[in-house]
Order: sequence, then structure tokens, then C-alpha cells
Amino acid sequence: MANVDSPINTLPRIAKPMVAALKKLGIETVADLLLYFPYRYLDFSKTSSIRELVADQPTTIHATVKTIQIRFSFKSHLSMAEAIVSDETGSMKVVWFNQPYIAKALQKGDEVYLAGKPDYYNHSLQLTNPLYEKVSDFPRHTARLVPLYHLSQQVYPKTFRNLVASVLPLAANLNDPLPQEILLRQGLLSIGQTVQAAHFPESFEQLAAARKRLAFEEIFLNQLLAQKRKMELERRKAVTIPFRQEVVKGLLAQLPFELTPGQKRAAWEILQDMEKPIPMARLIEGDVGSGKTLVALIAVAEAVLQQQQAALMAPTEILARQHYETAKRYLAPLHVRCCLLTGTQSELDGEKLPKPKLQALLKEGMPALVIGTHALISKKTSFKNLAMAVIDEQHRFGVDQRMELLEGKGKVPHLISLTATPIPRTLQLAFYGELQISQIKTKPKDRKPIITKLVTAEDRQKAYDFIAKQVAAGRQVFVVTPLIEESEQLDVKAATTEQERLQKMFPQFTVGLLHGRMTAKHKEQSMADFLANTTQILVSTSVVEVGVDVPNASVMIIEGAERFGLAQLHQFRGRVGRGQHQSYCFVFTESSDTEALSRLQQFSNTTDGFALAELDLKLRGFGELYGSLQSGWNFKYFNPSYVHLIEPARQEARGLLESDFLLAQHSELAKKLKGKTVHFE
Ligand code: ADP
Ligand code: MG
Repeated sequence: MANVDSPINTLPRIAKPMVAALKKLGIETVADLLLYFPYRYLDFSKTSSIRELVADQPTTIHATVKTIQIRFSFKSHLSMAEAIVSDETGSMKVVWFNQPYIAKALQKGDEVYLAGKPDYYNHSLQLTNPLYEKVSDFPRHTARLVPLYHLSQQVYPKTFRNLVASVLPLAANLNDPLPQEILLRQGLLSIGQTVQAAHFPESFEQLAAARKRLAFEEIFLNQLLAQKRKMELERRKAVTIPFRQEVVKGLLAQLPFELTPGQKRAAWEILQDMEKPIPMARLIEGDVGSGKTLVALIAVAEAVLQQQQAALMAPTEILARQHYETAKRYLAPLHVRCCLLTGTQSELDGEKLPKPKLQALLKEGMPALVIGTHALISKKTSFKNLAMAVIDEQHRFGVDQRMELLEGKGKVPHLISLTATPIPRTLQLAFYGELQISQIKTKPKDRKPIITKLVTAEDRQKAYDFIAKQVAAGRQVFVVTPLIEESEQLDVKAATTEQERLQKMFPQFTVGLLHGRMTAKHKEQSMADFLANTTQILVSTSVVEVGVDVPNASVMIIEGAERFGLAQLHQFRGRVGRGQHQSYCFVFTESSDTEALSRLQQFSNTTDGFALAELDLKLRGFGELYGSLQSGWNFKYFNPSYVHLIEPARQEARGLLESDFLLAQHSELAKKLKGKTVHFE
């Protein structure tokens, strides 16, 4: 007798090719089969008599086959099965094109369910290609919400439904990862009930209950992992870094401006966390240009001046170099040593130094701020006294990379993550469950809002005329094109051809190029040329997205803008408006899709990054937001309509961990968590 662990091939009447085809879908055991859920349902739950039929209304009839035969249509060159069926209210014609076998499967006198949308043919209603099955107590393909699955060509939907139905009674034997008490407290279906309802729901309500249970399970696992990580951190030790006012004062005294209220608050929250002996884990969420770097540097100065090491990891060499320059400017006067360590560069306090030398100094524990790229987490780099880790543009790093920076023996460094991707407040706990969050909502007050314009094909020339004027007046221009990899398939201008085109159009200026396939050295050069105003226009792929600072640039042009999410467009826009010049963002599109145009119009009307994130969520959905976060989770069932489940899931997770931190009594949960990367920003 088969059970949930039984391999599929032990089921009765299952052919070898079918076993192989199912294996390709990832289905090897009965449990796999039970947990392979439909992606959609056809609503044929309404039944009608033949007389009640209405054209185009999906419905099921219960009828008797009067005649059935194969015919060949000379008009359409198709063979078809044609039947006359009747019930007590009347009779009607049914045809199936290209499925002559149906004339064998159904016979005169059979009682059948037929599900479809009736249509008119020669002035009478007929059913064309309806789903059919012989009448039974448990219809699977008609007279119900009919499940649709992602299947391969080798697996017919009917065969699959029948197979699932044949093992459905075993669903009750599945191990439920959610403890009974939680199911009861939260009013959730058991896994057995869920499987039953997900495949063959009796009603939409039942289906909703199944989905809710699956969403809860996902968010519960997410919270379990987040809370576990948080509690683990709370048990670990970090170096306490007492707040010393003179350090902060010394740093601020050099600035030509004052901190904004948001910066002050974030800095204060961080400095308080650092005084504690438990590792801080804090995310600073602030719009582009809100001055997050400086907040991190304040914390770094405190740490290094107390003889500790600090690391700042940036996603690109360009950005690492820029942070290094900034850090040297503000921190050197305070006698904080600054190093740069990337794939190709290594420097200490402005002097080139062979990489192994620098790495040796760090290993010995030289107190310093080390700014770098992924090179910071290479095996060759290690720190003796890393007390603070800063991760800039954290969404650009994979979870594992972020973790690696923290993996030390003994004490755990305090962590500051910086991001300009705002998460709607209601979802923060789902994405950043283990992090404290500091939001910088204010912008430096000297900033002029960036003027954003949607430019369609007809207005292109006007925009170019405007650019020419700006450059003639001494300003510089960014042009962003969508990803090179994609442009080979999709009709988008590659950065290189765009650069050539613009160079021809503006022979009086120099047009530079920057893309991800250039060597680090070339990228560096290209960026340096732009900073020095040797090139006036810089064409780039989305690599420019992350925080590069060129105060003289006043125009941002985004090509193929409809291809980007709002949050990303907002990041691009943040590249300009960093100096005292009035700045502009031109959103170019050749799309005529009204939805895309309205989305871009909304972008043009809004300068608030948090509002744009909410909009992105509403317009492009969860996936978009999710994708930009690389959070290591892949929610299948949880979506924003289940936000109300997050808090109960968090509480249940916390409660469970307090009584069974190692999940020793919850082996099913432990198994589920095992495959997941640790979610720690
Ligand atoms: P982001 O938050 O996007 O990383 P940055 O930290 O790069 O922003 O800061 C953007 C620019 O704003 C930098 O040139 C920085 O020197 C400047 N800046 C930071 N804080 C302030 C402030 N309080 N007032 C004026 N300018 C500031
Ligand atoms: Mg930044």
C-alpha cells in the first residue's frame, strides 16, 4: 500500500514514460505529487439544464449521449467528434475538433458532465470542445472548480488530475510542519485539509482558506528564521564602543553644512546601539542623496578612534573609490586611517601599497577604515579586530556575501546596512525581520527638486536641443540604457551604439561610455574622465544606478524607461541634483502601452521615493519589489494581501523559539529551514 513517501512508480497503473515526465516536473514521491499545486482554476461549478444555457456563460450540464460519431470537415480539414446530448429540458449539439478519440471514449447512453461556454452555431446553442467526463460522485474535470497545473506536453491535464485524485486520501498522512496549537490558535487548515482544498476545492471560500494557510506557513518560516537569527545575535558579544562626543563634534566641525534632522536621528540611534555589548544590526533606509554615507562615517570614526577596525563594502569599484575619497577628506583630519581594497587597487591613506602588505596590516589589527568591494570578503583578507561592518547599497549584494563580512570568530561586528530601496512599512517585518530600521526622511535643505519629464518619440529632438544648451553652459549629462545582455534579444539600444550615435550628433562634445563588461580599469578611467569633465556626456548601462556622485551633472536621460521599475528609475534620477545646479531627468520611451505611459507619468509627478515604492508594489506587484531586494526568500503564496498575517506569524515564531530554540521537537520545521540561506541583511 502506497504512502506519502512512496516513489511514484509504485502507484498502480502508472506507465514508465509518465514516471519520467513527472520526474522532470520535480515529482518523485506521492508527497511531491500532493504538494504540486494548481496555479489556477476554471470555474465550472455552476450547473445548468440545457434549456437554461446562456451563450458565453461557463457552466456544466448533466446530459445523456444520444448519438456520437466521427466526422471529417472538408471545409476546415479537421476530423471532429460530433454528439447530440439531451436532458429532461432539451437536447443540443456538441463538437470536439481534432479529438476523434472522444467518439470512442463516450458511447450512446452514457451519462456525462460537459463543461464549457455555449456558443451559437446556425442559430442554436452548441458546446464546442467542452471538458467531459462520465457522471460520478467525485467529478474532477467538470462540475466544479477545475484545477489547472503547469505540466509538460507528456502529461495530460486529465491524467494528472486523476493521478492526484487517486492519492488524495493519503494527504491526511502528510507531516504538518506547522504545530497543531498554532493551527488552532490561528484558525488555519491542517496540511491535509490544505492539500485537499487546493487541488479540488469545494468552493472559493475553501480555496481561500487553503491559500491563507500556505501563505501563513511561508511567512511563519520567514519569521522563524529572522527571529532565530536575531536571538542568536542577542546571545553573541560585540565590542562596546562608548559614545565620545568630541569625535562626532570633530567630524561635524569640518562639514560645510549641518546634519539634517533625519541624519541626526539615525546617527543617534546607531551610536546608542554601539554602546551595547550585543551586535547591532541596523538598516538605514534613506532616499538617494539623503546623506547616508556620512551617518555611517560618524559611527566608523567612533570605532576606529577606539582602536577598532571598520569595513565598508560597496558594490562597485567606482563607488568604493568615491567613498574612499570622501572618507579621507573627513576622517584623515581626525587621524582615522583609511584604506582602499578592491580587485585591482589597494591604498593606505592616499598612498599605493601592495595588496599583500595591506592585508598583512589588517590581519595584525591595524585600526583603520577599510573601504572596498567584494575583495573585502575574499579569503585573503581577514581582520583581527573588526568591530563594525557597513554595507552600502545592500540590495546589490547577495545574502551570503553580506553574511560573509560578519563571519568572524569570537565577537561579531556591529552591522550597518545602507539602502535607498524603500520598503512599504507594512512589509518591513517580512523583509527585514531581524533588523532595526532607521529611516532618513528629510533631505538636505539646499536641494532643488529635480524636474522630471516624460519624453515620447516626437519630443526627442527638443530634449536633445535642451541637452546641447546645458552642456554648452558647462553642465554634464548622464544617459542610461537598459542592460546590454538583454538588448541582444529585445529591441533596446545597446550602450555602445548609443554612445556612437550621440557622439555623431554632438561632435562638439566628448561622449564617454560605461558598462559592466568593461574591465575595472576602463570603468575607473571612464568615470574619472566624467568627474573631470573630460567627457561631457556619459552613456552607461544601469551600472550607474548605484550612488556615484558627480555634482556638475545636471541632466539624467533614461532610455527605454518603461523597462525599469519605479524604484530603479528613482535611483537613476538621484544621480543628478547633487550640486547647486537645477537638474533635470528625461524619461525616454517609445512605448505606446498606456499602462506603461501612465506609470512613467506618475514617476514624473512624484519625487518621494517611499511613495514610488508603494506605487511599484501596487502597479507591478510584489515580484518587482521582491526582485530588487534579493532577500533570499522566494515567496510563492505570501503576497501583500496577507500583511495582516506577518505580526501573528512573528509572535508564533518567537513563542516557538523561546520553548524550543534548536527546533529539536519540530523536526519538520527544522528540515524546511535547512535549505534556506540565512536571511540577514
Ligand atoms: P546617499 O544617501 O544617496 O548615499 P550620500 O551620502 O552620497 O547620499 O550624500 C549625497 C551628497 O550629499 C554628498 O555629496 C554629501 O556630502 C551631501 N550631504 C550629506 N549630508 C548633507 C547635509 N546634511 N547637507 C548638505 N549636504 C549633505
Ligand atoms: Mg550612497
